[in-house]
Amino acid sequence: MEISENNFIKGIRKFSRKSNSVIRGIGDDGAVAELGAGQYVFVQDAMAEHVHFEFSFMDPYYVGKKALYSNISDVLAMGAQPVFYLVTVGIPAGISSGQMERMYRGMNRVAREFGVTLLGGDTVATAKDLFIDISVTGKLAGARYFGRDKARRGDLIAVTGKLGEAALGLKVLKEGGDATGMKNCVRRFLSPAPPYGLWKEIVKDDITDVMMDVSDGLILDLSRMMDESRKQARIHWEKVPMPRPLRQRGLEELAFGGGEDYQLLFTFPREKLPVVAAMIDKGRAVTIIGEVVSGRGVRVYRHGSEVTSPPGGYDHFGGRL
Ligand SMILES: [Mg+2]
Repeated sequence: MEISENNFIKGIRKFSRKSNSVIRGIGDDGAVAELGAGQYVFVQDAMAEHVHFEFSFMDPYYVGKKALYSNISDVLAMGAQPVFYLVTVGIPAGISSGQMERMYRGMNRVAREFGVTLLGGDTVATAKDLFIDISVTGKLAGARYFGRDKARRGDLIAVTGKLGEAALGLKVLKEGGDATGMKNCVRRFLSPAPPYGLWKEIVKDDITDVMMDVSDGLILDLSRMMDESRKQARIHWEKVPMPRPLRQRGLEELAFGGGEDYQLLFTFPREKLPVVAAMIDKGRAVTIIGEVVSGRGVRVYRHGSEVTSPPGGYDHFGGRL
């Protein structure tokens, strides 16, 4: 396709009819709707062979795990507890029942971790490539959903875990070579468990209602958040958490543009700083990387001066933003 994912999504928003029970529609990690007395989150995320993975370096077990993790990550990012999931798989000739069994085993492993239940789905035959498409429903954990559209001027920007791990892991899997010290990165690519414990703390301490997951790269995802919030993000290169091998190999840009880390990106008001600082003091993997100001877009500062062309994110259709 010749247009960017951002522009494509803007174009299909017109098909989403306004309804009083839709609290948040297209434009976030998931949609929020009211059903009876409660509010629920609906997300859907697919993975395709030769686009997101190759069986040459990814066992079907991990394909299943990762597909469900990425969906659960979106549900958590909306501030909801995942509850049910549905799966559709496209199966080409040449895939064995044993491989399919392993894929569902991977999903089941993740389902048990988060207490989500498989409701059903569909299987279809495909001409060539395998795809897996999952939909997860979650129940709002607090009174409000976590949105990309709520960042306020003066908020601080934080991220969980380290960025660029999955991109480096993928590089190792694709290119081979010396993988010493990079087990964590490979694991992050194959099995990107969302930071569930941290998420629960963030919910319990009522730190924020502005969150998204980092799936397409920090700069691209943060720019989407700023777009929705109509604000500008200023982040500091030195503060962005990244695994040591990234610095050692001169691949720091992967922390800004590499996707699929499935860490959580959130902003919070300054009055919550003592709570976040206490989490950091306890050794929790949370890092404050910048602040929200008036304006648009994302600006990156390195040693105090602005980086003129910061490394971008991954766009699914390869278009320019
Ligand atoms: Mg997302």
